[in-house]
Amino acid sequence: MTHPHQQARRAAKAGVATLLLLALGLPAQMLQAAPAAQVQPQRAQDQAQASSFDAELVAFLTAYWANFPDAAVAAGRYAEAARLPAPTEARRLQQIAFAEKWLPRLARLGQSSGLTSAQAGDLLLLDNHLQALRWSLSELRSDRWDASEYNVADAFAQLLNKTDFAPLPQRLKLIDQRLRQVPAYYKAALAQLHEPSPLHLKLAIAQNSGALSLFREDIPAAIKAAGLKPAEAAAIKAHNDQALRALESFIAGLEKIAKQQQLDGSGRSFRLGKALFEQKFAYEIQASVDAPTLFQRALAEKEALLQKMSAYADQLWPQLFAAETPPADRLDKIARVNAKLSERHSAPERFVEDIKAQIPALEKWVVEHDLLTLDPSRPLVVRETPSYMRGVAGASISAPGLMDPKGVTYYNVDPLDKYTPEQAESFLREYNHWVLQVLNIHEAIPGHYVQLLYSNKSPSKVKALFGNGAMIEGWAVYAERMMMESGWGAVDGKASAEMGLMYAKWNLRVVSNAILDYSVHVLGMTQDQAINLLQREAFQSSTEATEKWHRAQVSSTQLSSYFAGFSEILALREQLKDKQAKQGKAFNLKAFHEEFLSHGSAPVRMVQRLMLEK
Ligand code: ZN
Ligand code: ZN
Repeated sequence: MTHPHQQARRAAKAGVATLLLLALGLPAQMLQAAPAAQVQPQRAQDQAQASSFDAELVAFLTAYWANFPDAAVAAGRYAEAARLPAPTEARRLQQIAFAEKWLPRLARLGQSSGLTSAQAGDLLLLDNHLQALRWSLSELRSDRWDASEYNVADAFAQLLNKTDFAPLPQRLKLIDQRLRQVPAYYKAALAQLHEPSPLHLKLAIAQNSGALSLFREDIPAAIKAAGLKPAEAAAIKAHNDQALRALESFIAGLEKIAKQQQLDGSGRSFRLGKALFEQKFAYEIQASVDAPTLFQRALAEKEALLQKMSAYADQLWPQLFAAETPPADRLDKIARVNAKLSERHSAPERFVEDIKAQIPALEKWVVEHDLLTLDPSRPLVVRETPSYMRGVAGASISAPGLMDPKGVTYYNVDPLDKYTPEQAESFLREYNHWVLQVLNIHEAIPGHYVQLLYSNKSPSKVKALFGNGAMIEGWAVYAERMMMESGWGAVDGKASAEMGLMYAKWNLRVVSNAILDYSVHVLGMTQDQAINLLQREAFQSSTEATEKWHRAQVSSTQLSSYFAGFSEILALREQLKDKQAKQGKAFNLKAFHEEFLSHGSAPVRMVQRLMLEK
């Protein structure tokens, strides 16, 4: 199952992000809390500082929303929802100009004295975001080759389905205004493409075709349901029909390019190549290491996991296969044990209920083992994924937006009724008795759900809006490891080899994602090599492996985020343990978790500085 953040990140896609502190020219002490002694005499100055900082931030965000209305809608800000800017060449240049205007302005703000560490961190995130934006529009130039960037569906779907912010007739007014801009949008999109990548072209055709039903069915149905005056309804309907025709002709235009490409073999490769991948990795992941170093780390971790799995397989073999001799090849041996254990799984009709039943046990465990403080006033609601959201992630967390801090958090689980019995069986074997527990830890407790609650309590709007995906995914992956270390999954007080093997397999997936990402985009990995890595060396089903190969081609750096964040959090924890041992202090796991999460969704590298330099 993939993760909810992907969607949000696609919507707000302009933003990628990193930058070495020093390259920005910001003094390192900006990241440290101001020493207490200094604070008192400077209070008046600090207050003036705080208000000018806040004012500048408000000015930035106001300008940002005005320039990026789709990101505003994705963040739940509907004030900008009426505008749908066409992706013209003029707009590209205007976005670069926006970044170039704000980069020095925010850097100047960063040079003022007396900033808190949280404010300094906010500025670093914004700087990274704007640098990434400029780089993306001037160097990466995916606006020319990735046709799947062009799709108007998300904001329309959100305006149709987000029923809580305004009544339907009012939302239809916004929809109407956007509809009128769709023809210009798609005309500009087609003109902007230049030697598009055939693979992304195919994706764009599929995704935009998926959006047709919005204009053929959903919007006309909403117009009927709204009880508008006939003339008003007819006007919106006419704009909707124009939008539909524009979308159809965009798809036809893409198909024409695709046909031509089939004839002459033209079109850019889907592979980013070394230079672009490594720069994108730096902006997106904001890790303390570069992409080649993380890749090497992942290769070493893969071997370590295979050794562990081989030992678990040896331990389990006699009880599963009695006197049969295990295969000499360790991959064959692990695969046999994995297949046998996977027979223990939920049933299609019980799947959602089985997940629901596990949440209280996880909560109880986290509290009793003193791992983290939970907030019982903000319960997690497990539900079947609403139909308009299905088919993207399998399982996901819907956290309340920034504008709705008291809202409910949902754990969305796709029911399995879309599957044939064979597909359901394969899916349930993948998410078997043990793996399902790890999934719940990852998505819910103490993974994404808990992290997002802590993040929402952090007062930084910037960190919530421009937060770091590697930190968010890294935390969820770290939560799995930490729960295993605390003894989760043990049977009668004894560590379970079954859980050990299945957790290692799950973790191997995270590690393989990072290996795959780098190998595909930098090292030219072929499909056969990719499938071999995923299926034979990481024990994934063929459906899982095929889907992952597809995702590795159409995305870049996102698949590295899980392992990058995870390995950095683990390293930070060990560094802190060492440091405190040298100081003669006892390391407290709960205090580590709570402090780590208190900084919002900041890059691990940033939190590391704050926590180590205290
Ligand atoms: Zn996740
Ligand atoms: Zn079965």
